[in-house]
Amino acid sequence: MASRKVDHLLIGGGLAAANCARWLREGGGEGSILLVGREPDPPYNRPPLTKGYLQAKEAREEVLFRPDEWWEEQNIELMLRTSVMKLDAEQRLARLSTKEEIEFGNVLLATGSNVRRLQVDGCELDGIHYMRTFGNSTALRAEADRVERVAIIGGSYIGTEIAASLTAAHGNKCAMLMLEDVTLERQFGKEIGGYFQGVLQQHGVDIHGGQEIDHFEGSGGRVERVVTKSGLEIDCELVVIGIGVTPDVTLAKSAGLEIGQAGGVLCSAQLESSVPGIFTAGDICEYDSPVHGRQIRIEHWDVAFNQGKTAGLNMLGRGVEHDVVPYFFSDLADWTSMEYVGPGTGDPVVRGSLDADDFTAFYVKDGRVVAALTVGRSDDLETAKRLMVSRARVDPAALADESQDLGSL
Ligand SMILES: Cc1cc2nc3c(=O)[nH]c(=O)nc-3n(C[C@H](O)[C@H](O)[C@H](O)COP(=O)(O)OP(=O)(O)OC[C@H]3O[C@@H](n4cnc5c(N)ncnc54)[C@H](O)[C@@H]3O)c2cc1C
Repeated sequence: MASRKVDHLLIGGGLAAANCARWLREGGGEGSILLVGREPDPPYNRPPLTKGYLQAKEAREEVLFRPDEWWEEQNIELMLRTSVMKLDAEQRLARLSTKEEIEFGNVLLATGSNVRRLQVDGCELDGIHYMRTFGNSTALRAEADRVERVAIIGGSYIGTEIAASLTAAHGNKCAMLMLEDVTLERQFGKEIGGYFQGVLQQHGVDIHGGQEIDHFEGSGGRVERVVTKSGLEIDCELVVIGIGVTPDVTLAKSAGLEIGQAGGVLCSAQLESSVPGIFTAGDICEYDSPVHGRQIRIEHWDVAFNQGKTAGLNMLGRGVEHDVVPYFFSDLADWTSMEYVGPGTGDPVVRGSLDADDFTAFYVKDGRVVAALTVGRSDDLETAKRLMVSRARVDPAALADESQDLGSL
């Protein structure tokens, strides 16, 4: 027996669900909206957790998706610290951790990602941090001021941003350890990853590539050392682990939704899952991209934001396709910042100068631009998007040649 009924149920209190709620209202929806989220905080933006908020430059209020009163003004009900335990797709029922049952008209599933955990000896010691939530960043920010040496495990966005923020704002001496040889190599290749590694090193971050963690050592229950399989030992007072995330599709799987090859919930271009009336957005959404011509799943802020909008409009019956080219940004303190468009990887063709911190790398595969990364040349991303959408063939030499006008390509 359902205890109550809502028109739109939004599961997960992250950005995708928040922006979906907003667009349900901005799109003219007047039905009841209930957003159920596991975390104690109302929806917020995660990017500042490794940037401005971690550097103590941004306050909590600036990180929130909307001020506290906005939810009430919009007549959107927030249920925080509450999990959806079961989703019955056929009966259109959700069971909550409060034991309440909610009958819904349609539902957004936006359960995001969980961090991957490092299971090695010593991993339970105090002073070992992960980074996903407001609470994680608040705890790290407070502890960083009390210590000097920090070991960061993982050389991707989270690791590189944290290393920069802790060095720049908290004066920590950071050592980064990672499986790959060069930071961000898996995302952008060795040459471009090497640019970001160089920036970190210039600012005093020690980088140890090709290292697999064997165990942590400590005393009095607190971490004091990282030891790698090759025998490298790094003394530290604090460890931060950023070794990737996995989409949280537990609820989706138990509800019988189809899962795609990239591990997300398989959706149409309108972000509707294999069960009509069940939509997804954000990190778990593996959708049929009309722009890129295949199923893709992307874990980016901007993607979660835009998909929340598309899903919200479609929950109002608009039938909109999600035709946005994925966009990503990352900052290393105020040392450098990058922007990236596209879901693909290919061979980088560099236009401009890495040494001058002024370049765009166009990633080319089978003669077509499939992604682009820029430092200092945001306008180039518009060209890159145009080339991606049109699927035009390009001459790599012309892309690299600064004397040729990009617009003419
Ligand atoms: C520290 C950090 C920095 C980042 N920086 C950048 C950046 O610079 N640029 C960029 O493009 N991207 C960045 N990202 C990625 C971006 O923030 C994510 O892709 C985005 O937050 C995904 O949004 P989401 O709503 O899909 O999921 P999430 O933000 O993960 O939200 C999902 C929410 O659902 C809740 N939930 C899960 N299961 C249930 C359940 N059964 N019942 C109730 N609630 C549930 C979770 O607890 C969580 O609160 C960053 C991510 C992190 C963690």
